[in-house]
Amino acid sequence: MKPRIAVGAIFTESNHLVGRMTDMENFERTEFRRGEEVLAATDGVLGGSIAALRGRGAEPVPLIYASAVPGGPLTIECYAALKADLLGRLQAALPVEGVLMPQHGAAAVDEIGDLDGDLIARVRELVGNAVPVVVTLDCHAHVTEQMVGNADALLAWETYPHRDSYSTGARGANMLMDIVEKRVRPTMAMAKAPVIVGGYMGSTDDGPFAEFMRKAKSLEQLDRVLSTSAFLVQPQLDLPDMGGGALVITDNDIDRAVELAAALGHYYWNLRSRLETPVRVPAGAIAEGLQIDGTVLLLETSDCVGGGATGDSAAIIRALLEAGVEDRSLAMVVDPESAAACHQRAEGEDIALRLGHKLDPRWGEPLEVTAQIEQLTDGKFVYSGGIWEGITGDMGASAKLRIGNIEVLVMSKPTYDWADEQYRSAGMNSEGAKFIVVKNPMNYRIGYDGKFRAAFPLDTPGPTVASLRHVKFQRLARPYFPADQDIPGFTPRILRGRA
Ligand SMILES: [Zn+2]
Repeated sequence: MKPRIAVGAIFTESNHLVGRMTDMENFERTEFRRGEEVLAATDGVLGGSIAALRGRGAEPVPLIYASAVPGGPLTIECYAALKADLLGRLQAALPVEGVLMPQHGAAAVDEIGDLDGDLIARVRELVGNAVPVVVTLDCHAHVTEQMVGNADALLAWETYPHRDSYSTGARGANMLMDIVEKRVRPTMAMAKAPVIVGGYMGSTDDGPFAEFMRKAKSLEQLDRVLSTSAFLVQPQLDLPDMGGGALVITDNDIDRAVELAAALGHYYWNLRSRLETPVRVPAGAIAEGLQIDGTVLLLETSDCVGGGATGDSAAIIRALLEAGVEDRSLAMVVDPESAAACHQRAEGEDIALRLGHKLDPRWGEPLEVTAQIEQLTDGKFVYSGGIWEGITGDMGASAKLRIGNIEVLVMSKPTYDWADEQYRSAGMNSEGAKFIVVKNPMNYRIGYDGKFRAAFPLDTPGPTVASLRHVKFQRLARPYFPADQDIPGFTPRILRGRA
């Protein structure tokens, strides 16, 4: 008889700094599979998990797979409903020979905190100690005691930008089947260092995190090492004991797992300064940019719509005006009220506006300007690349304003940004512009490839900040980097797996 393996997860990444909570509607709108629909997945981490389980001769038993785009923590009600659904189906499916959970690992619930740890612990309670539970994670997971203490193995993806979710699902499935077939007895240790940094230096293609990933992965060549994972924790969570580091799984040798993980934890701590995003204040970036011959991108990563922000910051527009920049420059702001006011008027007219900081007013004051309405548009544009290549984006009623030589795109709705599609759709030409405001920390590298001379991440307030230096965490306690540059006598915190 085929071994029956339960498969289910609640997959999302939470951000405590965004204003709104995640509820059931966010899951319904993204990807919510129930029962047999789980088995129909052919790509992503779920597709990789199912295909590999079948390849190993197992029968996947579907629970639920609920996935939502990154946003605020889940409401208690939303999590309770999802958890009851998943656990109810698991209860009904018992007995099973194993459980495979393709989680993200950085999800939070209002009041409860660590979603992933809570869910894994409840699954463990239900199946008992003898049934293996394997969990796959994003490398931005917040790995906790509850997760390490209740799973048999945790495996994270190895790339950022992420492109190996399918193969990670397969790795998780193969690890689980190796346990079920009694080929291995995993023993696991996680070493954490309290390094809270933005994703800007976290690429696995080059730079310090790539170096750390290679170091961790090289240990997989050693005798009795089954798997290693490197983590750079999602920094916009606000939970106790956050940090990055590495997790090592050995075959029935916990001491060796602890020893190897601890060494990686020290290595990670020593990388901390290089992992910090090199931010500039807007005025400094503008002054420096004016000395550079060619286009300079001003990265307002703190207002990244793709990370859950509203896109309504006018901080860089203010800085460009205060600096008296005379070269033609492009900026954008989401402000439905101002966009509607422009659409009451005609192209060519002047209008007085208070721009921005209305959807999420915590990060700044609206900017008072008088501008000329140059162009009114319906806000439709087509993505030229990235995950939504060829798809039509919708900014809602939008306007191109002119304030001196600063061209400002005012949009009604937030849209994920890839390259300059939003600007181009309103007749704003990025070619030859001096400064271009970009609201993402990673896509611009491909989206604007070959079109800029320098790109400066800026230190501006917002829910998706580049540097966590000035964020007032409520639950994360000191000391941590970068609030504390050093911790005398530092040793990584070790989380040990089940014996
Ligand atoms: Zn991630």
